[in-house]
Amino acid sequence: MKKNPYFNPAKPHHRPGGFQNNDPSFRRKHLHEVLRWKWQAWRAGAPYPSTTPIPTVAPELDFIHANAKAGVAMQPAMTWVGHITVLAQFGGLNLITDPVFSERCSPVQWAGPKRHTPPGLSMAQLPHIDVVLLSHSHYDHLDEASMLALGAQAGGPPLFLVPLGLKPWLAKRGLRHVVELDWWDEQVIEADATHQRVAITLTPAQHWSSRSPTDAMRTLWGGFAVRAPDCHLFFAGDTAYSKDFADIREHFAAEQSPELGGGFDMALLPIGAYEPRWFMKDQHCNPAEAVQIFKDLGCKRALAVHWGTFQLTDEALDEPPRALNAALQAQHIDGPDFQALAIGQTWRLPPRFNGN
Ligand code: ZN
Ligand code: ZN
Repeated sequence: MKKNPYFNPAKPHHRPGGFQNNDPSFRRKHLHEVLRWKWQAWRAGAPYPSTTPIPTVAPELDFIHANAKAGVAMQPAMTWVGHITVLAQFGGLNLITDPVFSERCSPVQWAGPKRHTPPGLSMAQLPHIDVVLLSHSHYDHLDEASMLALGAQAGGPPLFLVPLGLKPWLAKRGLRHVVELDWWDEQVIEADATHQRVAITLTPAQHWSSRSPTDAMRTLWGGFAVRAPDCHLFFAGDTAYSKDFADIREHFAAEQSPELGGGFDMALLPIGAYEPRWFMKDQHCNPAEAVQIFKDLGCKRALAVHWGTFQLTDEALDEPPRALNAALQAQHIDGPDFQALAIGQTWRLPPRFNGN
């Protein structure tokens, strides 16, 4: 087995050959389980067909581009590009999460899961991106063509923030300006336009990583907590429900006291790719568990992501928001606080110290 060059025996999530989750009971699925899932899905007629179209809207390009250059007057805003990709504008910065603009999320572009809905913003419609937040190596998150295009954007490459082990992948493709983070490592950025201090921390998630048959869990996975004066954003990446979210709340409790503006203003939480539960439960949360994560984090709002774009699992592509609404009703949470937007839609937030 190839050695993990980052291995630190003092860190429980490090292993000599890679990384592991905080929940010690996690184990990766075996090939026979993958085959059982696929066989059962085939017999049941899964993936189940959608009954409603995935909502899409034309992006508010004028707002997005004016906001991108607004400096201190930037209004915190999140635009859902589709799947896991969100353009996040706050702190004087334009950030993008797991940029995926390709037709397929697969090692090759002639096979593998194909987009059902085009990106809400094309690559050419993006403002200049300052920071890319990459959660892990799976093909529906780490998209080579999108990463290369961002690396070559006019005005210079963004800062790529990636979990441990992914810097060599980017370096091999000529992508520079990369910072690797371990769980709880923090990177501080001073936004030129506003002189605001933005702190970004890689946070634990219960998931795994892989891009080939031999590299499972060799590179780290995670989420990001981004704290700027006008907005605290949490991006979960891919995750099962776990105790990690209570730990994350605890970790930032001092920075997020009521006097300092409270919990995360916005959390980007995955609600799709969860059926069948016996297979997916320890790697992807379902909508009801995403609502529990929302509560565990103590965040003010959440935007539902990781649905509506690629058919990855058995549930219908349009099912996650229906299940989300049922879960929100069951938990008596106000619908507008946890929303599934249309692809291309922008959610504008009150600045942290101006709103609530
Ligand atoms: Zn994944
Ligand atoms: Zn995913």
